[in-house]
Amino acid sequence: MPDRHACQASCLWCGQLLRSLPAGRPIRTRDWGGDDTVYTYVPCSHCRSLVLINPPPAELMGQHYRDDYGPYQQPLAISLAPLRLPDREALAARATPRQPLQILDYGPGSGAWLACARLTFPAIAMAAVDFDPAVSGQRLAWLQQPVALLAPEEFLATAHRWDVINFSHSLEHVANPVTVLERAIEQLNPGGLLLIDAPSVDSLSLRIWGPCWQGLEAPRHLSIPAANQVVRLLCHQRLQLRRRFTYGSAALFQRTLEQASQPPCPWPRRILIRAGRAVCGDGLLNRCCGRLGLATSFRLIASKPVSGP
Ligand SMILES: [Zn+2]
Repeated sequence: MPDRHACQASCLWCGQLLRSLPAGRPIRTRDWGGDDTVYTYVPCSHCRSLVLINPPPAELMGQHYRDDYGPYQQPLAISLAPLRLPDREALAARATPRQPLQILDYGPGSGAWLACARLTFPAIAMAAVDFDPAVSGQRLAWLQQPVALLAPEEFLATAHRWDVINFSHSLEHVANPVTVLERAIEQLNPGGLLLIDAPSVDSLSLRIWGPCWQGLEAPRHLSIPAANQVVRLLCHQRLQLRRRFTYGSAALFQRTLEQASQPPCPWPRRILIRAGRAVCGDGLLNRCCGRLGLATSFRLIASKPVSGP
């Protein structure tokens, strides 16, 4: 039965009205944090992105980010490594102690990516965008280097220019991803890099496990973008797509199976869960799915042409 809300909402990624006959069946899922509210994601008939059509009011969203939220956990030093980026040497050659590379992480979480960026380049100035800059500043203190913190609206208004901008699983959390992305591209220096990681609508786990797929992470994820639509937007803004691939997460797969095994769990699903646990842990499946573009997340790396507009 079509959802009443579907007629009123638009796709966050292409603006298409989510009509009463969407591209596929809406996905109804419970709150990731365990409360009983049911959230509904509707697939866009134009770009295939999934859009959450009944998000909590913006002023209450903070309640859905707990202190133990995964991305906030401080990484072990041994898990940090230099980033593998195209044009890394050319970018590194620009950096001097007096003119460090300008690095922005939109949604810095624990600060792990910023720490990796610092291992990658000889001199960087770090900035980050967060819904709550004060709390984010406390989480990033372990970096022991100043991080300029911006609220989302400050980011949209700033005239600052950046050499690398990272969106690691953050665009799915914002209500205006296209505006944010377009502003980021404007703020990118020629020769600069834009990195995007996001959950994938093409995930095999999503197809099999539907509402149990933990990539939905309702209601924090306001959309699950279709990678092809994000690529179209980047190309429309005259960025050059340099790398594109998909990858999986063993922890997310395990959480998905846990959710799927909650009662009532009919016997065909129990067999599927047992098979899933036996086959994977999910390294092998993820590698295969990654090759086929069916894994949990996608990563895009694009550059701004030096002689471009
Ligand atoms: Zn769309």
